[in-house]
Amino acid sequence: MFDPHRFITQRVQNIDASGIRRVFDLGASLSDPVNLSIGQPDFDVPESVKQVAIHAIQDGFNGYTVTQGIPELRQKIRHAVCDELPNWRAGVEDGAIETLITSGVSGGLVLALLTCVGQGDEVLVPDPYFVMYRHLISLCGASPVYVDTYPDFQLTAERIEPLITRQTKLLLFNSPSNPTGAVASNRVCREIAELASQHGLLLLCDEIYDQFCYQKVPRKDGAYHCPSPAAYCDQLLLLRGFSKTYGMPGWRLGYVAGPAPIVEQMTKLQQYSFVCAPSMAQLAAVAAMDLDMSAAVDRYCHRRDRVVNSLSDAFELTTPEGAFYAFPKVPDHLGIDGTTFVERAIASGLLIIPGSVFSNRDTHFRLSYACDDQMLDRGLEILLELARA
Ligand code: PMP
Repeated sequence: MFDPHRFITQRVQNIDASGIRRVFDLGASLSDPVNLSIGQPDFDVPESVKQVAIHAIQDGFNGYTVTQGIPELRQKIRHAVCDELPNWRAGVEDGAIETLITSGVSGGLVLALLTCVGQGDEVLVPDPYFVMYRHLISLCGASPVYVDTYPDFQLTAERIEPLITRQTKLLLFNSPSNPTGAVASNRVCREIAELASQHGLLLLCDEIYDQFCYQKVPRKDGAYHCPSPAAYCDQLLLLRGFSKTYGMPGWRLGYVAGPAPIVEQMTKLQQYSFVCAPSMAQLAAVAAMDLDMSAAVDRYCHRRDRVVNSLSDAFELTTPEGAFYAFPKVPDHLGIDGTTFVERAIASGLLIIPGSVFSNRDTHFRLSYACDDQMLDRGLEILLELARA
């Protein structure tokens, strides 16, 4: 008899998606939920960028592109990287640093981990972490080792160092962070870079929220950028994306920049898996990179302020400095865990995500402020009510 279950490998069965599925199942029963669970921007792709994609399709730009991505986009990315990271310029120019256009940062994460870690390797991951990390590391046969970053969510060298063993190969770094909104300071970025070089570790820097940074570092030319370990070393893979910055998560576009031998192997893997990132999205991204998205980011900064001002008295909350999430602690006096708190929130019509989805602890919850002000205010009111109960 044919039993489909017999074909499902242990490595896939080991992935437990029940926490987040439960939230969505509970949420599906609500007719008009206040939805603060969304992990994508609430603004649309800028019109001029849409037009480039539409014309690309109409003009027949619908075939495969070269695996590494169209030359115009890679060139643009090389310029952007060199402008922001003068220490990478020589490497980019002499080919020691290569780039690859990926199917989202997710695609980059899959390729990077498959290329760099396997059985017996340990990967240091901040806890709380972006949900994918844990499972992708395990899928590759490696072991995640969690660095507890509570209560301020800073992945400092001091917290990491005691966990480094001879098996440690890679450190996953995510700033600004999903789910906490924490941004690593310049000092922390420098420390991390030094730690990586002392211990011969590769840094995997997921900087998908780099444009959503409310504590930017002024540069000599007057522009701003988010602190990055890449400013202090090139022993890293830099993963950045277009999903959040330009409101195009469905277009599946991201990129990797890093040491050529690693990026070349990732490119080989992409050739035999994703093949290439979506063609029309690549062309549109060339235009998108010329746009200034700071007005959209400023709106998120104001919403962040709204969240902090409203919740700080009732919840322990580390002020998020980036991304579009806050990660408050469930008030102790309620005597309940994050999951129970989220169940109560959903019963009151509010969708949020329990901290246990992103962490070995179940003490906090994630809210996203990527929504309109009215929705956000309704959500904050419900949270304050729940904290009073
Ligand atoms: N990294 C982080 C930290 C994220 O929050 C996300 C999306 N939620 C991703 C990677 C994946 O983004 P994408 O594949 O859309 O580029």
